[in-house]
Amino acid sequence: MDDSGRRQFDLPSGASNPRGLLIAAVIFVCGVLLLSTALHVRWDKSQAMSKNTEAMQTLAAALNSQAESTIRVADTLLTALISMHRSGGHGEAGLRELNQMAKTQISELGELDGLYMSDASGQYFLATNARAQQLNNSDRHYFQHHQKGSGSELYIGQPIRGKTTGQWVITLSKGIYEDDGTFQGVALATLSVERFRTLYRSLPLGEQGIVVLAKRDGTILARSQSDAQTYLTNISQSPMLQAINQGTPRGAVTLTAIVDGVRRVYGFDASLKYPVLVAVAAPEEQALAAWRQRAWTMWSFALVAVLGVGIMGLLVLRALGRQSAMAVELQAAHQSLATANSTLKTLAAEDGLTGLANRRHLDAYLASAFLRARREETSLAFALVDVDFFKGYNDAYGHPRGDQALIEVCKAMRAQTRREGDLVARYGGEEMAIVLPEMSAEHALGMAEQVREAVQRLGIEHRQSAYDQVTVSIGVVAGVPGKDFTTFEDMVAAADRALYAAKGQGRNRVLLAGRQHSDTGQLAEMP
Ligand code: GH3
Ligand code: MG
Ligand code: MG
Repeated sequence: MDDSGRRQFDLPSGASNPRGLLIAAVIFVCGVLLLSTALHVRWDKSQAMSKNTEAMQTLAAALNSQAESTIRVADTLLTALISMHRSGGHGEAGLRELNQMAKTQISELGELDGLYMSDASGQYFLATNARAQQLNNSDRHYFQHHQKGSGSELYIGQPIRGKTTGQWVITLSKGIYEDDGTFQGVALATLSVERFRTLYRSLPLGEQGIVVLAKRDGTILARSQSDAQTYLTNISQSPMLQAINQGTPRGAVTLTAIVDGVRRVYGFDASLKYPVLVAVAAPEEQALAAWRQRAWTMWSFALVAVLGVGIMGLLVLRALGRQSAMAVELQAAHQSLATANSTLKTLAAEDGLTGLANRRHLDAYLASAFLRARREETSLAFALVDVDFFKGYNDAYGHPRGDQALIEVCKAMRAQTRREGDLVARYGGEEMAIVLPEMSAEHALGMAEQVREAVQRLGIEHRQSAYDQVTVSIGVVAGVPGKDFTTFEDMVAAADRALYAAKGQGRNRVLLAGRQHSDTGQLAEMP
């Protein structure tokens, strides 16, 4: 097989190890897929967390503003009531007018639960709730706070149970003082805790969401999820309150509640005008639930893609394997064809019995040697060799031994022609030919003589021969093609004539066309 034939089965250059390259590519693609998914899922989580934090803070700010505005309304009303009371005096008419004004405000504003005023002994002289008229609030903490003379600032007290309603209320109070600072009583506005709770519970924070309205000192005013007990607890130790009291009025923290062990994100916002704040919290898990869902989807897609790439890679690998196996098979087939071809060529050019070149090869070789000698104007010699009395040999010793003798003769002939370019061929039957390029007549005669002697030296017994052994007769011709001979057939015919003449002269001799050579080695002209 030639090189071009082999090359067609080679894989394209640059893909010397396509399996390795493919595996590397598949690993790379899968790696990139998984890594980018991991990064994206992480990024998505941080987005979800920060969105949640932001939502908590926004909500806290809105609720704080709502609480602040409610307190401001109460503050304003109490200031107005005190001012009216002080200017209107303590007469029946003045009190009626004050009562009327308070009731109108309660029903119009809707944010307040009740408005009350008590004298220095704690006895109510104004109450929007008629049943409270007879009560005394001197036992209340806020009363005692103002009684101590703590200034005219609004005081936000701890939630208490209303004496008439039994409901939890937030108390907003102001002390009433004479110009000389003598304590005259307390003006009080109550806010229903339930009203705040209803609002807080309406927010979509889920089962475990929390909204707290508290004082900066840690007193809880209202809580979305709570029982009465909650209002007695204090959250002053919470990191949130610590942050607020250290000058961070709004922000967010993530805390794990001691009570239920739930990790929550708290958004908080403290009022700058009143000592209150609102904190809103939702479980971290709730904020991450949607993210978890998306992460599952993203990972599922990534895994399906990785699986797909892997399967495709495997299929391509298998196909590559089959292709290279086929290439190997094809190469082997090509190789054996080439071997068969060269065997055929040899067979076509070789004689089966003697192993010499056959007649077909001889004809082609002689034709080309003739052309070359003509082109180069060199002498070409040709000899025809015929075994003497060979029919008689067969008759005497049998055909198989005849074959053997023929093989021996041919071997001896070949041993005498060692030059490259000399060709010994079987011309037909027991007749052989020798092509001797670039050889003069003298040299050719000498060579033919050596052949004749070599055969004689074999000493093969031949009873039917006049020489008692196997001998050959040789007809030789030499000359420059184109000059001495027109065609190579002319040369063959001349050699044949010389051979015929040699036979006629008694056999076992060499004759040059035009000259004669005796069996004693002397040259003679051909008759
Ligand atoms: P001459 O000296 O005139 O050449 O006599 P000859 O008997 O050799 O010539 P002839 O042409 O009468 O006979 C040739 C014989 O050679 C006939 C044939 O049986 C024999 N022969 C030709 N080819 C082969 C062969 O391959 N094997 C054997 N054993 N004999 C062969
Ligand atoms: Mg013959
Ligand atoms: Mg013969």
